[in-house]
Amino acid sequence: MKQSRLFTKTRKEVPADETSHNAQLLIRAGYVHKEMAGVYAYLPLGIRVLEKIKEITRQEMNAVGGQELIMTALQRKEIWERTNRWDDSMVDVWFKSELKAGGEVGFGWSHEEPIGEMMKNYISSYKDLPVYVYQFQTKLRNELRAKSGIMRGREFVMKDMYSFCVGEEDHTAFYNATMDAYMRVYARLGIAEDTFITFASGGAFTQFSHEFQTITDAGEDVVYFNREKNIAINEEVLNDETLTKLGITRDELQMAKTAEVGNIFNFGRQKAEDIGLTFKDESGENIPIWMGSYGIGITRLMGVVVEKFSDDKGIVWPESIAPYQVHLVELSGDNEEIKDFANGLYNTFNDNGVHVLYDDRDVRAGEKFNDSDLLGMPYRIVVSKKTKEEGKFEVVERANGTVHYLTEEELHHKFLGANS
Ligand code: ATP
Ligand code: MG
Repeated sequence: MKQSRLFTKTRKEVPADETSHNAQLLIRAGYVHKEMAGVYAYLPLGIRVLEKIKEITRQEMNAVGGQELIMTALQRKEIWERTNRWDDSMVDVWFKSELKAGGEVGFGWSHEEPIGEMMKNYISSYKDLPVYVYQFQTKLRNELRAKSGIMRGREFVMKDMYSFCVGEEDHTAFYNATMDAYMRVYARLGIAEDTFITFASGGAFTQFSHEFQTITDAGEDVVYFNREKNIAINEEVLNDETLTKLGITRDELQMAKTAEVGNIFNFGRQKAEDIGLTFKDESGENIPIWMGSYGIGITRLMGVVVEKFSDDKGIVWPESIAPYQVHLVELSGDNEEIKDFANGLYNTFNDNGVHVLYDDRDVRAGEKFNDSDLLGMPYRIVVSKKTKEEGKFEVVERANGTVHYLTEEELHHKFLGANS
């Protein structure tokens, strides 16, 4: 991508009401546009990050046997009434609307009810089980407060997966496999070390639910943890009973602010019973399906990564989700020879599948470097008169500022790898 053609520009100002660090950086760098509180548009650079997070998540969900689908955003009132979750006193984040033709619809804030209902069409016998399905979808939630930037949206992208099993044994195996898959997703984003599987509220010891909490000052939750013992407890369930059960004392635990980046639930047979979703066992008896649900906040993860990996100059993307691996910056000062040289390198990278953002703009060097720091690609390669004369390219690692001087051959070797 040539930067001269990118319609987004970096900017110094952010909307006056934007107080969150992640959103401020993302807006200034042109990754997102703030439409209103808790509602953000994702611009060309932002989409590339989101798609990479989705692709990592997709690979890990496929690896545990998930099948991708996409449910509808508009939902039927009746199916939520059946499980007693239509009423605003039961679910406080509903957006709802009247149909012109009469009747009311809800805007999807979650999907276990519609998916369970739909599965009645596809599951009838134990032979049809297990089934694991997942989707990436924009959820709509009427959140009371939306002050955490893209970490808490009223409109946000979630990966939600649902499991349908014959019984507890199958369910537990899948639940545990999914926990590992979640940790692999966080590892690939570079946040696994700071992400804990917590004992949350709601009967943690019966494996009713687990949360994945990542340490960040921008988080809205509080967790007490011990790294060596690999124990983490949500603030709400920190009491003597919990401590005794886990065999740990209060003074062995450290407190941290965290963001919930994932959440998994075991419904037992209750949810399917409420929905009326059953299978016939070998003796022909109808039994409610054992269900689970598994969420990951895709857009929240993007915000968490920005919070954790940024400095006073801007964003520092991990390689795995950077919109471009390389920021190629030419300082030609109108010298055609150097322009051609940089352009040739840009083409070589593109031809070899290296994702590169090419700053071909006619602006001062200082401005190019500031923008490059703000945008946060892992590697910056500078092409200048000096490069041409000395036959060496300056390569700067965004994460630690390390500078390397590489010959063209070394550059090919480093970035084109097996393709060179
Ligand atoms: P929270 O306690 O933060 O409101 P939740 O318990 O409502 O989260 P779930 O309904 O389990 O969350 O959703 C699954 C995942 O979706 C969460 O773990 C989180 O990562 C993400 N998520 C939830 N609400 C939002 C939101 N408003 N904006 C962005 N991501 C969200
Ligand atoms: Mg919530």
